[in-house]
Amino acid sequence: MSELSVYEILNRKRRGEALAPAEIEELINRYTAGNIPDYQMSALLMAIAINGMTAQEMATLTQAMLRSGEQWHLRDQYDFIADKHSTGGVGDKVSLVLSPWVAACGIKIGMLSGRGLGHTGGTLDKLEAIPGFNARLTRKEFERCIADVGCVISTSTEGIAPADKKLYALRDVTGTVESLPLITASIMSKKLAMGASALVLDVKTGSGAFMRKYEDSKALAQSLIAAAQGSGTRVEALITDMDRPLGVAAGNANEIVETLEVLKGNGPVDVEEVTRAQAERVLVMSGRYDEKSARTTLDDALRSGRALKQAEKWIAAQGGDPSRLPQPRETIEVKAPRSGYITFIDTYQAGMFTVDLGAGRKKADDVIDYAAGVMFDRRTGDQVRAGEVIARIQLGAKKADADELRKRFLAFVQFGDKPPGRRPLMHEHLHA
Ligand code: URA
Repeated sequence: MSELSVYEILNRKRRGEALAPAEIEELINRYTAGNIPDYQMSALLMAIAINGMTAQEMATLTQAMLRSGEQWHLRDQYDFIADKHSTGGVGDKVSLVLSPWVAACGIKIGMLSGRGLGHTGGTLDKLEAIPGFNARLTRKEFERCIADVGCVISTSTEGIAPADKKLYALRDVTGTVESLPLITASIMSKKLAMGASALVLDVKTGSGAFMRKYEDSKALAQSLIAAAQGSGTRVEALITDMDRPLGVAAGNANEIVETLEVLKGNGPVDVEEVTRAQAERVLVMSGRYDEKSARTTLDDALRSGRALKQAEKWIAAQGGDPSRLPQPRETIEVKAPRSGYITFIDTYQAGMFTVDLGAGRKKADDVIDYAAGVMFDRRTGDQVRAGEVIARIQLGAKKADADELRKRFLAFVQFGDKPPGRRPLMHEHLHA
């Protein structure tokens, strides 16, 4: 493809035409090798973000990005190995609870996970709040952890989907993150490169999700499932609610504390419920359990303390010591300005608030303040009395004006005289 034909491809995509598989493959290969400039690729990404892609184009893009790097084919090495992915949210510690929980039921699970994106927290950032935790494993270390403890979470190595690393960095600064075909290819190229036997997708919906509207979340879930067709990895999706923060804690160190509380059986019910639903699918997809036996086995693993022991073993295997978690330097209480009910917490704003406290990044090289975060002591649907503490803002190293923070917090929380209508935590289960 000459320089001129890249120009022609850009024009065709701008007009909304579909690209041929060979064109998409060559574009990805040449861009990964550094032979297409960022300005041309940015134009193509914007044309895709505006005009979309056909199912065939999306499948080809996913495959081309997947083939840009290593393929681990882990399913060929184990009888069964699971993977899990979340499209991201606020207070979403499900992967941290789920991994040791299913491993305690005898199911191997490995995840190549990501850092926080925009207003959403990142599993790796949360794990790195644990002093000593090594989230940058080599493939050998990753596999050793699976062999020794049955579960592992690490960052995607350099070798996995290098095309996505370059494209994601470009999307991040060109307003092209929110695009169904680009999100699908980005997520699935990395997931299929690891090559688990089965993958459970937690697709979030609501004010704190990337896809806020239900129909968009469902379209993303369907698109992610379709991208895995014929890959050898069985994929199911659960659409779960992100119209409120999940659990009480949003941040990093505080979410590790909450994770361990859930595994002790003392955590917020919503975190346990959302995790249980996904863990159940993992167990059933392994073929070793039906729905009933999956439920009783998960229950037993939790109530007996085996899931907690498994978490301790796993964290230690990756070098972490959760007894030394960073502590907030100062805690600011937020009180209810009136009596009534909390009717809505704008979860996108809540996420941006925690990012501003230092719990997330605004630029790729920002340093995370692991002790910073928010505890949502009263949550959507709760009845409150005027003056009652509804939240605790946890400050790390960053100094801030307490009254300003309280004001900003209360601007994204709505109160009313009546409880809000009930939204389910679990919306839908989708599979091929
Ligand atoms: N997560 C990813 O890995 N990629 C996206 O494009 C969006 C979320």
